[in-house]
Amino acid sequence: MPEFRKDLITGEWVIIATERAKRPDKFKKGTSYKKIKTCPESCPFCAGNESMTPKEVFAINSIKERKPDTSGWQVRVVPNKFPALISNLPLDTSKIGIYDKMSGFGVHEVIIISPKHICNIAELGLKELEVMINSYVNRMLSLREDEKIKSIIIMHNQGKEAGASLDHIHSQLFGLPMIPPVLGKELSGTLAYFNSKNSCAICDILKFEKEEDKRVVFENKDFLVFEPFASGSPYETWIVPKRHAHNFEEMTNEQTKSFAYCLKVMLDFFYKNLDNPPFNYYIHTSPTLMDTSKYFHWHLELIPKLTIKAGFEMGTGVNINITKPEYTAEFIKENLKELKIKV
Ligand SMILES: [Zn+2]
Ligand SMILES: [Zn+2]
Ligand SMILES: [Zn+2]
Repeated sequence: MPEFRKDLITGEWVIIATERAKRPDKFKKGTSYKKIKTCPESCPFCAGNESMTPKEVFAINSIKERKPDTSGWQVRVVPNKFPALISNLPLDTSKIGIYDKMSGFGVHEVIIISPKHICNIAELGLKELEVMINSYVNRMLSLREDEKIKSIIIMHNQGKEAGASLDHIHSQLFGLPMIPPVLGKELSGTLAYFNSKNSCAICDILKFEKEEDKRVVFENKDFLVFEPFASGSPYETWIVPKRHAHNFEEMTNEQTKSFAYCLKVMLDFFYKNLDNPPFNYYIHTSPTLMDTSKYFHWHLELIPKLTIKAGFEMGTGVNINITKPEYTAEFIKENLKELKIKV
């Protein structure tokens, strides 16, 4: 029987449509992926082609005394050449009759996470993912200083269908002059929960998920990885720190390692067991100028693109998920036993 499930944080409903259910292993719809060994001369993100991008704003170097915008880096961060938002604009708001508008101020950076022409993030080893996460932390900490930026979001698009415009793996950072609606809903939902129960909604979710043990797929000492109760799509997966923390960018080095490991586990699972599907992940961390320390709990959401949103989803805002998160959790767990993580 289909059922409605309510998201504890946002209050949004989803339909778990078991009548239309697919077995979790029937989602292998990714494209078989060929490793590209040679670097195309035209790739602006490959080492050696630094002059093809705007000037870098940050890098983690692999050689000492490296000059900016030359090779010898592990991660390189540059402003987006075709930015959705522009950082050197004044922050102006105005009205056109009944409408509000605001200048397109914001930061839009590209985080190039490998100097080699790698096109799938699952090919990165654990150490390389740690370096990538360190670069995320570093950029967030430095952009927090800008008072015009209210929230920072880091995301990764894997595959063309997930929105990656260039093959060479890269993440993106947006510094926004407002709080975007998805994060806004999480903030108001977790604040309302805190006001009524005097506890953090996500801490309570972690506690219940561990007790019930139906949707947890993996855990280590610092993080829990699970399929949310009201998952909006198949294989939606959250990676959440076990200890309450509202800021991603205040993670310790030890936690960075544990976090990288959880991410690697899931990336390998998607790559090997779902045949390399396109996916997005994004990190929800507290807005910079708000004190959310009591009620907000940072997390990463990882969402493979295995189904297409149709008119019903778009017209109602209610997602239909054609598989139960409990089944996908079980399928992931079975397969994780066989996965060997490359360190
Ligand atoms: Zn490249
Ligand atoms: Zn919490
Ligand atoms: Zn979130």
